[in-house]
Amino acid sequence: MQIGITGGAGFIGAALAIRLQASGHTVYVMDAFTDYYDVELKLARAQRLQANRINVFDGNVHEELGTWCEAHTFDALFHLAALPGVPGSLTEPHRYIEDDIAMTVTVLEAARTHGIPHVFFASSSSVYGEQTGALFEQQATGNVMSPYAAAKYSAETFCRTYHNLYDMNVTIFRFFTVYGPFGRPDMALFRFIEQALDGQPLTVFDDPVRDFTYIDDITRGMEQALEAKVTGTFNLGANRPESVRDIAAMLSERFNVPVRSAPARTGDVSMTWSNTDAARQTFGYVPSFTLADGIERMIRWHLERR
Ligand code: NAD
Repeated sequence: MQIGITGGAGFIGAALAIRLQASGHTVYVMDAFTDYYDVELKLARAQRLQANRINVFDGNVHEELGTWCEAHTFDALFHLAALPGVPGSLTEPHRYIEDDIAMTVTVLEAARTHGIPHVFFASSSSVYGEQTGALFEQQATGNVMSPYAAAKYSAETFCRTYHNLYDMNVTIFRFFTVYGPFGRPDMALFRFIEQALDGQPLTVFDDPVRDFTYIDDITRGMEQALEAKVTGTFNLGANRPESVRDIAAMLSERFNVPVRSAPARTGDVSMTWSNTDAARQTFGYVPSFTLADGIERMIRWHLERR
């Protein structure tokens, strides 16, 4: 298949591109190399993509998506470009409307006008708001805790609207705290490992619980959904709530650095925990990486890039 990925120089997009190309698809990536975090890391991912003969287009979805879609005949489009992160959404909510809602509508419109058969959208566990227990898909009702989550929930609603209105094939993935090599510097595990390797204290905000999901589990789930041609909304998580404080304690002992406590950040929920029955039953998704194995692979990558 001919596959387009927006945000393909991002953490998840780049890993997905490499997996799909290795499976025999022809993958085209578009990314604007925004400065939400270190652009050098995005360029390093893009270099890796090019080394795998993946076409990388430096372009902005807001302005150049139409031209890009005209130049190719996509069988599926994965929309991963976004402005991520909860804290920034509290200070600049309008940017999240632009980059998480409006940009998704731009993608849906492009898919409709160019006849792209299937759109896959990257949503987030944050759409569940503050709830406890293993969360299944029907439990997201829009009662969220941050503008980022509100934007993702709204973008999901546009995806469903296009599915209902135009009979478009649209699949929504709700990712749960993805981690692994080439990860995102603003996320807890990336930060902890860098702090530990620098001999700095590990900062833990409050006492959160997260369903850390290894990147290869996520991209395998996405590929399974593509192959199964399923539509609907699916959690992609690890089914396994972990205390962030316990992980920090483990790394603190191993690297002999202290743990520093900081107050909870407004907008962060205290727990995420996925129920992935729907993804398993519909397209065979079963997360397989243990947290210990995933963290070892991540530490190895952080050490190699120093
Ligand atoms: P990322 O920031 O690494 O990747 C997003 C990419 O989109 C970046 O490379 C950025 O340069 C690009 N981009 C942003 N605006 C663009 C624009 N206008 N045009 C073209 N490219 C643009 O983030 P990620 O962690 O890979 O996340 C991918 C998607 O998954 C995002 O939608 C994110 O909200 C969602 N998500 C991620 C996680 C996670 O744990 N990483 C969890 C839940 C949801």
